[in-house]
Amino acid sequence: MRKRFILRALRKQFNCQQCQACCRQDGFVFLKEKDIRGLTDFFRQTREKVLKEYCVIEEGGHVLKKNPDESCVFLSSSGCQIHEHKPIQCKQFPVAWHDGDCYDYCLGIQQIKQQIKERIQT
Ligand code: SF4
Ligand code: SF4
Repeated sequence: MRKRFILRALRKQFNCQQCQACCRQDGFVFLKEKDIRGLTDFFRQTREKVLKEYCVIEEGGHVLKKNPDESCVFLSSSGCQIHEHKPIQCKQFPVAWHDGDCYDYCLGIQQIKQQIKERIQT
């Protein structure tokens, strides 16, 4: 299926299916200063404490810690524990940015692919 159809549909009609697959991928959630401030507000802790508890340095920047299985440290059985304050990188996925792997694991993109397929067939 042509990627440009999917990309166009992604911008117009992406509907997150809350599968949390994106929170279990390898790679890192990089934090901007605004993200760190959001975490200090949410936890009512100092910047130093937040960085020590929930972040590590990778590839020259602060990233969220991960569990041994690669899932994000904030992922729980009911979803993201910091939903309102989740980092910009998480908020923008997959409409503003995404990698090639998400075409396979993201249920919202799977849904779009299915809708395009059905449209083509009718
Ligand atoms: S911060 Fe929340 S949305 Fe972002 S990867 Fe972690 S669990 Fe997922
Ligand atoms: S993988 Fe896609 S559908 Fe699943 S939670 Fe992430 S953005 Fe939503």
